[in-house]
Amino acid sequence: MYIYPDARAVIRDLEPEEPLILNRPHAAARAARFFTQKFPGTCMYAVKANPSPGLLNVLWDNGITHYDVASITEVRLVAETLPKAQMCFMHPVKTRKAIAEAYHQHSVKTFCLDTAEELDKIVAACAGEDGTPAADLRLLVRLRVTSEYAELSLASKFGCDLIEAPGLLQAARQHSDWLGITFHVGSQAMSPFAYVQGFDRTRAAIAEAQVVIDMIDIGGGFPSIYPGMEPPPLEDYFRIIEKHFEALPIAYNAELWCEPGRALASEYSSLLVQVDRRRGDELFINDGAYGALYDAAHVDWRYPVQASPARGASEGFREDTQDFAFFGPTCDDADYMAGPFPLPGDIAAGDYIEIGMLGAYGAAMATGFNGFGNAAQIVVADEPMESLFRGDRVMPELDNVVSLR
Ligand SMILES: *Cc1c(COP(=O)(O)O)cnc(C)c1O
Repeated sequence: MYIYPDARAVIRDLEPEEPLILNRPHAAARAARFFTQKFPGTCMYAVKANPSPGLLNVLWDNGITHYDVASITEVRLVAETLPKAQMCFMHPVKTRKAIAEAYHQHSVKTFCLDTAEELDKIVAACAGEDGTPAADLRLLVRLRVTSEYAELSLASKFGCDLIEAPGLLQAARQHSDWLGITFHVGSQAMSPFAYVQGFDRTRAAIAEAQVVIDMIDIGGGFPSIYPGMEPPPLEDYFRIIEKHFEALPIAYNAELWCEPGRALASEYSSLLVQVDRRRGDELFINDGAYGALYDAAHVDWRYPVQASPARGASEGFREDTQDFAFFGPTCDDADYMAGPFPLPGDIAAGDYIEIGMLGAYGAAMATGFNGFGNAAQIVVADEPMESLFRGDRVMPELDNVVSLR
């Protein structure tokens, strides 16, 4: 496999007219080592953020042994790619067939639930042919938490409330070899305080249920860096999480788990696009809302950008930076990304733009709509545009880091 030094070398060599995903295995390796060494517990990877086998292998090689899967397709993918990986089926609403295949064919023992119906489904699907109940289930009850500190809410869909949780914990205890509580604070949580409410609810649920809890899984939500979104250091998150975990009324050998997607994957990839047309301060580029830029279009997520002149343009850009918006390649008006994306004022059709920090929820979101969205993948050796893990960050203001009450 050829490794290009950077986007400019890719442009010089390939003059690509289709979008390309530029992968940085070294950056994902660094993120994995950071979490495995510094998170005070077990770190899973939430596969939905980026299921590419290349990334899964890098994470595995750098110490990530547990994988949060949400569909039977993800179960099969991880089973095939990393046969020794431990999988946890964390979607609270699964089909009976998916549960049965995961348990009986892929040795998945850990399942998440937020209703009594789902518990019944799991127990029935995992029983032996003669009806013997499974004795090795590890069940996680998902609590609902608010997403007020997260840029992307995940609060309305899943999780049981504090009225339902005690009964569900007691019922799940009857069928569990191992019982856990989990919550998910939403994605890109900009303050460690996001997790404190989850711990408060966990504590209340345990006090009410009076059952033995073997593990707490605090979900994902750890941030990455994007323009206008500079989070506090992840070490601050880990410190606050560990303190709250240790204060819970649980067994001394209870385990702490987390399941980041974004923070492990975002630095892995950037996207190289070509400008097909310029119309004032709007650039028509060859990837967009239906490709790797779903979040840029649908939730106005901003990504860092870098322009490279078309091959053959001997000089660089001459004009100062100005703000642009993007149109994607499909015929749909919604294929629009407001940005703003600061780029040289003389950027023109034929020039290239590298869009950074797209390893999480980038290529993973692409569809085949209108015949676009199938970007090829290339490996590059340079640094991601931003990094939480390089050790060279200037400490941001700590005003949104909260101490323990
Ligand atoms: C999406 C998801 C994650 C990963 O979230 P990130 O914000 O990418 O860290 C983890 N757990 C659950 C249950 C999820 O739905």
